[in-house]
Amino acid sequence: MTVYVVVTFSPHLFSPCLRLGGLSFRVFASPPMTNPCIITVAITGSLPCKKDTPAVPVTPAEQIESTHEAFEAGASLVHIHVRDADEVPSSDPALFAVVGEGIRKHCPGMIIQYSTGGRGRAMDERGGMLHLEPDMASLATGSVNFPTMIYENPPDFVDGLATIMRDRKIKPEIEIFDAAMMYAAADLVKRGLLIAPLHVQFVMGIKNALPVRESILDFLLSELPEVLPEATWTAAGTGRHQLTLNHWALSRGGHCRTGLEDNIRFDADRLATSNGELVARVAAMCADYDRHPASPSEARAILGLPSVGVSRV
Ligand code: ZN
Repeated sequence: MTVYVVVTFSPHLFSPCLRLGGLSFRVFASPPMTNPCIITVAITGSLPCKKDTPAVPVTPAEQIESTHEAFEAGASLVHIHVRDADEVPSSDPALFAVVGEGIRKHCPGMIIQYSTGGRGRAMDERGGMLHLEPDMASLATGSVNFPTMIYENPPDFVDGLATIMRDRKIKPEIEIFDAAMMYAAADLVKRGLLIAPLHVQFVMGIKNALPVRESILDFLLSELPEVLPEATWTAAGTGRHQLTLNHWALSRGGHCRTGLEDNIRFDADRLATSNGELVARVAAMCADYDRHPASPSEARAILGLPSVGVSRV
């Protein structure tokens, strides 16, 4: 006779078999009670300015404070753009350094991701902060039209950024603005310029790029296991679609991005008061999908990043 006992205290699966007299007991630890969701907060971006919303952080001090509030609300990863004194997007490594240092000090373990994105920044400067060796950096693996410009990422430029990230052990977040970019990322892995498994982000809702259609997300997700085996993924939507993509990602086991970079409104009636307010809403939604906001250490384990205080090897 076998008696099955399920214990739920450990996140680690195991099934030792205990024997007592004629009885054998097989003990299973259940999977974690819920599946962690990494909440990324994109605090600033390139577009929103103080005239659009007073909540957007643009100085390093504001960015550190806003990130800290988002961290307390459940964000475990911060995506960072910096601005100059006139709120214009900047690639100044000194600004990235100040913000990164402040976040490391005030938000222990939070994953720091610098943007190599293009809006308003010279192409030859976009990777100019990578020597600071953040945990992660964004990497768009192709070009696409944005509403009023070409988001330009030629093949040799992408190869160059990928090589720096590989050599400096910076984990890229592959930005998928168009379906072709997922296959281009796989080619980078094949050529040894990126190390699998990758982390990808599907971005929907930018005019002229991927539209907000659930069928497209499902198609991309159906391709992912074969194209980029073991990849982890986040989905991001712009404007009012931010919340839509949060729901779609939570329901499919993906990770979520929120923040004022992509959306400055809380709802149709008012602006968001802070990045923290947007993060708190996603954190609260997690339970509806049997998820919970990932702690920094859970997020690091999911993404294969070193634990806090462990240097990279
Ligand atoms: Zn960005």
